[in-house]
Amino acid sequence: MSDPISEKETMESPSRRSFIGISSAALATAAFSGLTASAQQTQDTRSAEKGISASDPGQENKPLLDENPESNMPPPTDHGDFGPIWYSFDLVHKRVQDGGWTHEVNSIVLPTSKDLAGVNMRITAGSFRELHWHTADEWAIMLYGNARVTVMNPDGSMFIDDVGKGDLWLFPAGFPHSIQGLGPDGCEFLLVFDQGDFSEDGTFLLSETIAHTPRNILAKNFGLNKDSIDRIVRKESLYIFPADLPLSLARDKAAIGGPRVASPIQYTFKLFDMTPTRKTLGGEVRIVDSRNFPVSKNIAAALVTLKPGALRELHWHPNASEWQFWLAGKGRMTVVMNEGKARTMDFNANDVGFVPRVATHYIENTGKTDVVFLEMFKADRFVDVSLNNWLRRLPPEAVRAHLNLTAEQIEKIPADKELVIAG
Ligand code: MN
Ligand code: MN
Repeated sequence: MSDPISEKETMESPSRRSFIGISSAALATAAFSGLTASAQQTQDTRSAEKGISASDPGQENKPLLDENPESNMPPPTDHGDFGPIWYSFDLVHKRVQDGGWTHEVNSIVLPTSKDLAGVNMRITAGSFRELHWHTADEWAIMLYGNARVTVMNPDGSMFIDDVGKGDLWLFPAGFPHSIQGLGPDGCEFLLVFDQGDFSEDGTFLLSETIAHTPRNILAKNFGLNKDSIDRIVRKESLYIFPADLPLSLARDKAAIGGPRVASPIQYTFKLFDMTPTRKTLGGEVRIVDSRNFPVSKNIAAALVTLKPGALRELHWHPNASEWQFWLAGKGRMTVVMNEGKARTMDFNANDVGFVPRVATHYIENTGKTDVVFLEMFKADRFVDVSLNNWLRRLPPEAVRAHLNLTAEQIEKIPADKELVIAG
């Protein structure tokens, strides 16, 4: 049996060890040329101490630390704390019912995210997410399988569509809607709401509306007799429940009155039918916001694919904080705030990331497979500022004064916004 302490020592990150081995003079000219003198001193002190001071002979949650090496032993550029930038759907309570399940990452577990919250839901074939509505706009992406969605406009026109993997929908706040799993195996999807404290448990349900309206009023409102009313009142809400598979889309549309009642507004969007907004050697980005998906007035999205080693370049968003959902791969993000605060975390599929408004960040694919993640914003459009782009639009003398680079070196920085830089 191996000694747990010495085994731990062998696990120490090579990057940290090599960092300790570098002289402070080399550091000053390399990684930290942009830091202030006092910050420089702090970093040097930290690196000198790390050999002993960073040892951890006590207990630890090794699987968790192995997933987050950059949080366990932060890079020397990390500093201070401005709240969590990471959470995972695999850590929250899963509400399982006959017909499917749901779980959510909102401000209860990720309190820094005040603008957006996310729900991940599974519905088996035929099962319904009960007829409901809510105070937030709902943006969705299908992650698996097939579903039929309906949403009614306040003027009584009705939208019905079938969605599959990669398709989006947007249901405006207060508009009543439904989701039903289709064959062969139902569906799974991600919902994003433009309220950080949104909870799927707090939606307005048809079953509860019926249960808590006086029965004589229900009878008068629906024009039904007491026997019929007794049938429709339930003791418990439905929320998610099994049902028979629906008719074909064409037959359902015809059954409600055809083109006469059809919604003139399109509430679904085929993300993978669109040409990528940007494609580089390192990957691609698809931006969907009110410019190409007009009903998405309050939620903007970018689906980013990074090949191994590729970088979502250093940037920030002037108009909103960023809520991320990781669909695939393994990557790393550092968020740099004002006052010298910076945090680095590692991300895996099913994780959620958060970036405060205007905070600089990058995402690097640190794995062997593609990273796929969503950048989500409570905004009418996707807007980002590229640090490279800015440095190349400034007069070179101004850049030289700040970064101590020669004109030739400055010209090596990409002049235009790449979005994704190959590794
Ligand atoms: Mn909903
Ligand atoms: Mn971003």
